[in-house]
Formats: sequence, C-alpha cells, structure tokens
Amino acid sequence: MSTKEHRGELHRSGDAHRVRELRILVVEDEHKVAQALREGLAGEGYDVTLEDTGEGAFFRAATEAFDAILLDVMLPRRDGLTILQSLRARGVRTPVLVLTARDTLDDRVRGLDSGADDYLVKPFAFAELLARIRAIDLTAREFELLRYLMQHERQVVSRESLARDVWKEQARTGPLDNVIDVHIARLRRKIDAEQSVKLIHTVRGVGFVLREGEP
Ligand code: CA
Repeated sequence: MSTKEHRGELHRSGDAHRVRELRILVVEDEHKVAQALREGLAGEGYDVTLEDTGEGAFFRAATEAFDAILLDVMLPRRDGLTILQSLRARGVRTPVLVLTARDTLDDRVRGLDSGADDYLVKPFAFAELLARIRAIDLTAREFELLRYLMQHERQVVSRESLARDVWKEQARTGPLDNVIDVHIARLRRKIDAEQSVKLIHTVRGVGFVLREGEP
C-alpha cells in the first residue's frame, strides 16, 4: 500500500473506491519554510496549497474545502490569529494547527482562544508535525466510530459493519481496513491508554467490541 492511500480518505460516492488526497492549506510567509513543508507533506501523500499572506489565506479557507490548515502566526499585515478568528466567525470549522515561533503560555492561550485546534512551536521536527496533522484529520471520524461502538456495546462489530455504517462504503477494501485500524488505534490511545480497565477490545479475525474488561 502506498503512503498516499494510507493518508487518504475513501470517496463516499461513485462506483470506484478511489482514494482522495487530504487537502492541506499551508499559510507561511517564509519561502524556504513554506517550500520545505510543501515538499515534505506532498511526499506523505497530502495535496498542499500554499498561501504567504493572511489575506490570501482567509480568501482560500473561506471559499475552498480543506481537511486541515497549518497557520503561521507571524504574517505580514494581518497575523495568523486574527485570520483564524475571522474564519471561525464566518463558521469555517476546518481544523487549524497554529505554528508559533514562541512558546509562551500567553501564545498558547491566545491560539486556542482564537479557535485553533492545536499548536506547534517552531522549530519543530517534521515527524511531530505529521503526528499532529493526523490527530487533527481523524478526530471527527473517531467520534463517529466511538458512537457506533457505544450503540453496539458488548456486541462484536466487524470491519464490514464499520465500513458500511461509519464510512458509508458498501465494500470493504484493503486501504479502508488500514484506515479503520488507524482510527481504532487512535481511539484506544485517547480512551484506554491510561486506564487499567480497557473498553475497546480486538476480537481476532472478527472485529472489535466495546465493553468493560476482557471480552
Ligand atoms: Ca512568519
């Protein structure tokens, strides 16, 4: 399986189970940093759009659909957080990861107050950036998955059921199996990692079950 398939989401409509690249808007005015981000993210299978001004970013994000936005705070004229506040005020709910040069408590609070989903302090490791992006683009589906498991508490749900009812795909495919497993793993990390009594269990060869303790 290619990295591109792994990062993508399956189309909900159409006959072919094609994989859509996740679209990321990168807002960064430093040319070298912007190019490095574009190359790195494209290499991971993301479809990257660059903007180097706050105004350009605002127009793009308000008129096109993106799966995530990487937003630099220090931009000429209108800064990133001002742009973010304007986008949220317009009802744009795209997950935003703020890139900030300073790690002060004030910056964190300001970023989250402005509607950011997460923030990363420059300079950052590219692997860390990828991990944060993955956390952002999976959140909504994780909730759907958790809700489905809760509705079927104590029942073993198969990957076929998850593909059909959570991903709305009629047929299970290799890439989708992988996507399902990634979501299950992330959900586990969030709700089970620190707990002695686990809720999500794998039933080998069958699927998953949500219940307290061992299945
Ligand atoms: Ca900057």
